[in-house]
Amino acid sequence: MGYADVRGDAALVDLDGSVYETNLRGMDFFRQALEGEMSISNTFQDTQKEGAYINYYGAPIKNREGRVKGVLCAVHSSVILREIIDAPLLKGAGYSNILDKEGRYILKTIKTYPGDILEENRVRITESIASGGTGDFILTDRTGTKQMLVIMPLIEGQWYLASMVPLDILKANYIETAIGIMAIIVVACGLFIWLMTLQRISAARNRKMLMDLAYKDSVTGLRNFDGFKLDAGKIMKRSDRSSYILWYGDIKNFKFINDVLGYKEGDRLLKSLGTYFKMAETDDCITCRSAADNFVGIVKCQRDDFLERGIQSALEHLERTGTEGRTFIEIPVGAYRLRPGDEGQSIDVLVNYANMAHTIAKEKAGSGYVFYDDGIRRRIIEDTALEAAAQTALRNGEFQAYMQPKINIQKGNLLNGAEVLARWVTPDKGMIPPDRFIPIFEKSDLIVQLDRYMLEKACRWLADYLNKGRRPINLAVNVSQVGLLKPDFIEYYSGIKEKYRIPHGVLELEFTESMLAGDTDMFADVVMKLKKRGFICSMDDFGSGYSSLNLLKNLPIDVLKLDILFFQKSRDINRERIVTRNFIQMARELHIKTIAEGVEQADGVEFLRDAGCDVVQGYVFSRPLPEEEFNRLVEEAGDKPFACREEA
Ligand code: C2E
Ligand code: CA
Ligand code: CA
Repeated sequence: MGYADVRGDAALVDLDGSVYETNLRGMDFFRQALEGEMSISNTFQDTQKEGAYINYYGAPIKNREGRVKGVLCAVHSSVILREIIDAPLLKGAGYSNILDKEGRYILKTIKTYPGDILEENRVRITESIASGGTGDFILTDRTGTKQMLVIMPLIEGQWYLASMVPLDILKANYIETAIGIMAIIVVACGLFIWLMTLQRISAARNRKMLMDLAYKDSVTGLRNFDGFKLDAGKIMKRSDRSSYILWYGDIKNFKFINDVLGYKEGDRLLKSLGTYFKMAETDDCITCRSAADNFVGIVKCQRDDFLERGIQSALEHLERTGTEGRTFIEIPVGAYRLRPGDEGQSIDVLVNYANMAHTIAKEKAGSGYVFYDDGIRRRIIEDTALEAAAQTALRNGEFQAYMQPKINIQKGNLLNGAEVLARWVTPDKGMIPPDRFIPIFEKSDLIVQLDRYMLEKACRWLADYLNKGRRPINLAVNVSQVGLLKPDFIEYYSGIKEKYRIPHGVLELEFTESMLAGDTDMFADVVMKLKKRGFICSMDDFGSGYSSLNLLKNLPIDVLKLDILFFQKSRDINRERIVTRNFIQMARELHIKTIAEGVEQADGVEFLRDAGCDVVQGYVFSRPLPEEEFNRLVEEAGDKPFACREEA
């Protein structure tokens, strides 16, 4: 770099520090710089270096008034510029030159070509430069080849790049490029489609995972209730919706299966039912597990008794798959047939109808179905009201103890004792029978409170009676399953017995066989403990439920209460009597006392006496009596033989 004054005398310093003096006066770039413009020279042979080419660069140095006082000069090898213009253009077919604004060469390519096409067309080129600096035109060289010339400014007003390519090569290249671009587009599209597909697959997988989480039950593989609502909602839109039934079912004693056989077995049972429902699934039959052991479904069927077959084949499936505890599994089902107009209702409301019917179905023995109707709706509303009123009623002493005499038919029809039966006497609705409120109470701890209340009443009565120095008779109270399972059951009952100083052998506790639901060991243990504390233990309603004769040999009970009303359901009285006689006989051999309950006819008493039955409790002798009436009876006839009431 260096400095040149206005006369052109310049001192240039090389990179190695050596100074080289020269005069630049005659050079165009210097003149241009003096005129106040930045400038670049043409290409010169470097006088300092053999075979090297250089360009001069000039920048005017001005004083404050803007007058040029000198020129800052620089010299640089032309190599970089050469590299630009000699760079292969279209695989070497093209070439470039740098021209000044008059179309003269500033830097000429080293390539050789026939004639000087630029020189020959200088006029057109300078015109193109003058009219804006850029331009492209087609020229024909001396060989007759058509060339495409493109002019582009490198430094506006000074240097112009003139690139030239034979037209046919350009075209071929264009097609090649176009094919290349097409290929790239095709590959890119393919890639794009592949990525989209991948994205779709993974989105579908994620969606399925989310759907499963949201709508599937992990235990059974069925839908959960949300999933069910979604699919049932579609069925609700069908025009033939009134041929569909919504049902709600559960497994009776499922809690017992979980508690006694273990949760694994409980899960196995649920899974097995899930498999059954999945096998039965069609467009017109879908099922879900809504919670715990509750299943909800919708099925197309014209006849209501279709449900009966459905329940039976579900039970058969459990039997086939060897589900443990299957012998005492019962499936009560509540159902609701869709009606015109239901499409406006939410599935929750409709399922609730089936649920209400299910509540009623559960109260019945065994498996079966109940259809919702308005009566059921009223029942459920009443039930809810009864349940709500129960606590206050217990506090207000609205529950009364009725006593039904038990007559010893082997010892001169003398009074043997009585069973204490609860009655709810309300100030407004009058008397409510136990069949009405006991099932409601059994769903909660209310039944325990009631049983304990009745126990206390029985003890108070017995204490009173015995204090009068009367011949001991026994009094029986009913014990519910919920009460039996209370951890303090034995302690509480013994405590009350002791509180009233009731001697051993007069207070009887009645259990039903259904409440032990298979776990005889636990029950036998409880019975043993109760007997040690002086209670008489009896098995109520024997013959009405899952009656297993096997039960008797394992249970240390004192009394067997045969439900004669149950036996009377059979049409063949002879067969019924054979069965009854054998039960009594067997009980005798096991030293178990028998009480026949529900005896209404005098000839029944005769038969029972002959069969060896000890005691009869039935309308044939007396209905359950209010406490005062029973007291009167005991006073007047307590030690006299009872006669059969012919009108019973
Ligand atoms: P249960 O323990 O089997 O009581 C015997 C039922 O049979 C009584 O009905 C009684 O009135 C009825 N009965 C007796 N003899 C005859 C007869 O000859 N013919 C007919 N048709 N029926 C007869 P009740 O008093 O209505 O009691 C029904 C059930 O309510 C009882 O059946 C018992 O399971 C339950 N229950 C009553 N009071 C209580 C209680 O304090 N606690 C518990 N846990 N349950 C109770
Ligand atoms: Ca009873
Ligand atoms: Ca009974």
